Amino acid sequence: MDSLPETPRHSALTLHHLAVEQELGASNYKPLDVMLTRGERVWVWDLEGRKYLDCLSAYSAVNQGHCHPKILEAMVAQAQRLTLTSRAFHHDQLAPFYEDLCALTRSHKVLPMNSGAEAVESALKVARKWGYEIKGVPDEQAEVIVCTENFHGRTIAIVGFSTDPTSRHHFGPFSGGFKVVPYGDAAALAAAITPNTVAFLVEPIQGEAGVIIPPAGYLREARRLCTEHRVLLILDEIQTGLGRTGKLLAEEHEAIESDLTLVGKALSGGFYPVSAVLSPREVLFVLNPVEHGSTFGGNPLACAVARAAMRVLVEEGMIENSARQGARLLAGLQSLSANTVREARGRGLMLALELHADAGGAKPYVKRLRDLGILCKETHEHTIRIAPPLVITEAEVDWAVERFQAVFGG
Ligand SMILES: *Cc1c(COP(=O)(O)O)cnc(C)c1O
Repeated sequence: MDSLPETPRHSALTLHHLAVEQELGASNYKPLDVMLTRGERVWVWDLEGRKYLDCLSAYSAVNQGHCHPKILEAMVAQAQRLTLTSRAFHHDQLAPFYEDLCALTRSHKVLPMNSGAEAVESALKVARKWGYEIKGVPDEQAEVIVCTENFHGRTIAIVGFSTDPTSRHHFGPFSGGFKVVPYGDAAALAAAITPNTVAFLVEPIQGEAGVIIPPAGYLREARRLCTEHRVLLILDEIQTGLGRTGKLLAEEHEAIESDLTLVGKALSGGFYPVSAVLSPREVLFVLNPVEHGSTFGGNPLACAVARAAMRVLVEEGMIENSARQGARLLAGLQSLSANTVREARGRGLMLALELHADAGGAKPYVKRLRDLGILCKETHEHTIRIAPPLVITEAEVDWAVERFQAVFGG
C-alpha cells in the first residue's frame, strides 16, 4: 500500500509521526513519503537529515524561498506588537499594505482575504453584485463562465463548477449559475456569453491541470470579448502571480488587464495565509459595509508579512530570476529522453514534464527523484509539476537537471 512507509528510509521518530497522522488525521491528502522539518531558500531537510531541492514550493506559495530572513523579521516584529484587531477597528498596517499592493500591481482597490478559495468566492460574490446593480442583470439570473479542468479551490461553490469528478463527487447539491467552456477556446467562450453573463473566471495558465498553457492570443481575445459584452474578466493568478511565470502577473504575457485579479499563495512568501481581490475602482465599489468580510482578512500580521514578501520579490530580482532560470531549466528538461518524456513545457519557473501514457505513471519517477534529492509532485497520472522557489541559482538549476537526466535519461 502506497501510504505505508518504506521502513528503511525512516527513523523511529518519523514512523511515529506517520502512525499518528494516520490515526488522528483526516486522510484527505496522500503526501509523498518524506517528513520535513526545516527549510532554507530552495532547500528542505527531513527528520533523518537528508537535504532536498524543493521543486513544488508549496504549490507556488514559497516563491521567495523557505524562511526568507526579511519576511521572518517582519513577521516577528509585527507579532510582538499587534496581530489581530478584526476589521471592527482600524489598524496601522492596512493602509501601507494597500499602498504597496496597489503600487506593485497597478490596482485601484483591494479586498483582503486569507486563503485563495476565499479570494475566489469573494470575487464571485462581487461579480454577481456588480451584474445585478451595474450591468442590470435580472435578479437571481447571473451567470459566470468557467473553464474545463479549472482549479479555483475547495469550497462547495467552487467544486460545484469543477470538471474533476473526484473534487465534486458526493459534495452536492451545488450552487447554480455556472457554465463550463473548454479552456483555451475563445470561440466557445464567445458562444457561451449571454446578456446575463457577469464574469469569465479563468487561470492564465492552468496549474493543477498540469501547467496547461493556452494558445497565444487566447487571453487577449477573452479580454476583447469580455469588454465587448460587458463581462468581468476575473484572472485567478493565485498560482501564476507574483513572479512565478517570469512576470509579476501572467496577464503581462499578453499585455492585458483584468477587471478582477486574484492573488494569494506567494503574497505572504509561505509564512501565513494572505490573499486579495484586486480591481479597478468601478467593480469593488459595489461592496458596502457588513455585506462581506472575514475575521482575519487584512489583519496586521498578514499585512506586515505580505509587505515584506512583496518587497523582497522586487528588491531581490526574483521575477527576473524566474524568467532567466526558468528558461535554463526548461531547456534542461527539454533535453530529457523522448522515450519517457512526452513533453517538457512551462513559462518562467512554472514547469511540467508530461510523460508518455505507457510510462507507468509519474509516481515511480517522483519517488526516484526524491531518492536523488529532488522533491516534486505528480499531478494527474502522467504529469510532474516542477516549480522551485524563484531564488534558485544557475548552479542549482544545473544540479537539478543532472538529477532529472539520471532519472529520465538525457
Ligand atoms: C491554490 C489555488 C487556489 C486555492 O487557494 P487556497 O489557498 O488553497 O484556497 C485557487 N486558485 C488557484 C489557481 C490555485 O492554484
